[in-house]
Amino acid sequence: MSERVIPLVDQRIPTLQAPAAAFDPATRIAATGLLADRLGRPLRDLRISVTDRCNFRCSYCMPKEIFDKDYAYLPHSALLSFEEITRVARLFAAHGVRKLRLTGGEPLLRKNIEILIEQLAALRTVDGEPLDLTLTTNGSLLARKARALKDAGLQRVTVSLDGLDDAVFRRMNDVDFPVQDVLEGIQAARDAGLGPIKINMVVKRGTNEHEILPMARHFRGTGMVLRFIEYMDVGATNGWRMDEVLPSAEVVKKIHAELPLVQLGASAPGETAERWGYAGPDGRHDPALGEIGVISSVTHAFCGDCNRARLSTEGRLYLCLFATQGHDLRSLIRGGASDADIESAIGHIWGARDDRYSELRSLQPPELGSPPQRRVEMSYIGG
Ligand code: SAM
Ligand code: SF4
Ligand code: SF4
Repeated sequence: MSERVIPLVDQRIPTLQAPAAAFDPATRIAATGLLADRLGRPLRDLRISVTDRCNFRCSYCMPKEIFDKDYAYLPHSALLSFEEITRVARLFAAHGVRKLRLTGGEPLLRKNIEILIEQLAALRTVDGEPLDLTLTTNGSLLARKARALKDAGLQRVTVSLDGLDDAVFRRMNDVDFPVQDVLEGIQAARDAGLGPIKINMVVKRGTNEHEILPMARHFRGTGMVLRFIEYMDVGATNGWRMDEVLPSAEVVKKIHAELPLVQLGASAPGETAERWGYAGPDGRHDPALGEIGVISSVTHAFCGDCNRARLSTEGRLYLCLFATQGHDLRSLIRGGASDADIESAIGHIWGARDDRYSELRSLQPPELGSPPQRRVEMSYIGG
């Protein structure tokens, strides 16, 4: 039986091959764990997209009009297999990666994801430690899967939740999915010990800003860290407009007016979120009340210590969330390249990196919005 050919919508824009220097013995780069890019930034965090599909249609990510029934998702044969993902992740770990985040699309839609988690949990950092292994999910399948994920070796989860009001939530996921099911998923993750849990809320001005305070009240004192994300101009399909961005400074101000906050230091270099702790009656941070985070990718660029790489569902390496080109690792993997070849290719690609999109955007007048480029979709390379 001949395989049906599915035409691909070309959101997966230009691909770069690994530079020839990667394979020349004279210029080969071996993994030492000390890799740095052209701006001196190390490679520490690998985000792996395991599917380009999702059961939600959040308008800021996979708007229904584009991601409709005719949309051409990747055929299964194009996806990296679990063995291929694990191999690449091992080589990234040899280069200094300490944290793996599974994402998508909706990662829990990938069949038998537990098997991949088991394989990744067995990897070690250059110091011989287990990698920090986490996953970002919309929570819709978490109630069913939390226990199996934990048993497979997943350490924690981040759950996306844009509001507590059922009508608002159903509108934002645009598939009429009830908020209660996600809340039950979060509870199941807690019960399974998948913590500390982070909750991601994308804030869109005029859509869910009135949910900021109810969300803060709900998660305060629970041990879960609520993070507010500025609506970003990722991809090319969400019709992003600057006037729909609610700056993080306004989020902090709004919460602080009712629930006093104090600023906390960064927990790790390259940390995307600015941390704010809830203050107790003495005005100091009360750890029992917990903290929030704000991720200000639009109003406060944080490229200076960005140590994140992204591996797309079909094995392309992206050096920035706003990249217009990916580097094809799959053709190396499937073309019989040795571990040393792939390590060297990763070394050359990261070594040439100078991406700092958010910083550059912040240097231009805000009314210009984001530059008109063909950028890759978030659902394809993962958040
Ligand atoms: N489906 C999973 C989920 O929603 O958690 C994982 C993939 S999703 C692309 C990863 C994260 O990106 C989510 O927290 C989502 O809210 C965020 N995201 C998607 N589009 C965004 C945008 N335009 N601006 C800011 N965050 C966005
Ligand atoms: Fe799906 Fe996550 Fe994108 Fe929403 S943000 S459409 S849940 S991939
Ligand atoms: Fe990193 Fe690119 Fe985001 Fe800057 S814009 S923080 S380089 S992913």
